[in-house]
Amino acid sequence: MRNFNKKKISFISIFLIPLLIFSGCTQSGTTESEPHSKDFFAMDTYMTVTAYGENGSDAVEEAEKRVYELDSLLNAENKESEIYLLNERGTATLSDDTASVLQSALDYCKLTDGAFNPAMHPIMRLWGFTSGKYNVPTEESIKATLKLTKANEVSLKENKAKFNLNGLEVDLGGIAKGYTSSQIMRIFKDSGVTSGMVNLGGNVQTFGLKPDGSEWNVAIEHPDSEDYLGILKTHDKAVITSGGYERNFEKNGRTYHHIIDPTTGYPAESGLVSVTVVAENGTLADALSTSLFVMGERKAEEFWRNNRDDFDIILYADDDRVIVSEGIKDSFTTELKTEVIS
Ligand code: AMP
Ligand code: MG
Repeated sequence: MRNFNKKKISFISIFLIPLLIFSGCTQSGTTESEPHSKDFFAMDTYMTVTAYGENGSDAVEEAEKRVYELDSLLNAENKESEIYLLNERGTATLSDDTASVLQSALDYCKLTDGAFNPAMHPIMRLWGFTSGKYNVPTEESIKATLKLTKANEVSLKENKAKFNLNGLEVDLGGIAKGYTSSQIMRIFKDSGVTSGMVNLGGNVQTFGLKPDGSEWNVAIEHPDSEDYLGILKTHDKAVITSGGYERNFEKNGRTYHHIIDPTTGYPAESGLVSVTVVAENGTLADALSTSLFVMGERKAEEFWRNNRDDFDIILYADDDRVIVSEGIKDSFTTELKTEVIS
């Protein structure tokens, strides 16, 4: 049975690891090696932003502001957001940020053959994932609502978005955090911080090496246990995980989670418990972790093989196997049975 408090556990566990590292780094007492760090709650999750270097403190403040700004643009449940207004009116002139995330979402929809579908909002609402008032919809209502999830009926030109289908609504929940962590990397770069990391509820992006020159240790959450699935040593990469354990509800002894298979309208049952994507591009990592979870092991591996220069993967299957792509096989440590794909 999935644990409903995992999100918090995940935050604490992943956060503890950098803390252990920091404690060894602050002893020199130089400004360069002291972490500037801030925890806050946004985008429905706990976040930590950490930066080293003289401008670290300003960069962390700027990053926090940027998170709130993006949340207020992209959150489909916020009545003042651009996405909310677009969903309500079916047309809107968008800010550069919203247009950029929507365009990426449409591009990943094509690239993944619809496994990533940014037009799932009506289905998310039907299941109660938008309000927390969960219920299992009837097959008829799912069938009818699926007719609205046509991402190819969204047109976007020069920031002007228009839906060509009544009732269509977009939901950028599967990609917004990855875009956000990428934007924070940009702030780090522009402010001249020497290294840093952001943890958006278990989705991590790292900037540079740690002040002592070593790589960051990113803990990947284990869906069923308080231990980690494993630890990845990495730098300058986003490490983004999707899993049904992150948000779900139980009804009549069955668990229903928040990642929906666009072909059925039901929570994806692909045999994967979690998918971690490791990539330089946080937006790509977020979109693909959701997509590969929907695709399942075989298709996910095939997709990786066709796009292997852009990212690496850690798949956790429901028979307790861990599948790791070749590019990170020496950087990932786990006690579970592991298969390497090449
Ligand atoms: P993530 O945690 O990044 O995998 O994103 C999950 C969120 O993405 C859900 O809460 C929905 O808002 C949205 N979502 C659900 N199913 C899909 C899908 N097939 N394609 C794109 N977004 C989805
Ligand atoms: Mg995602």
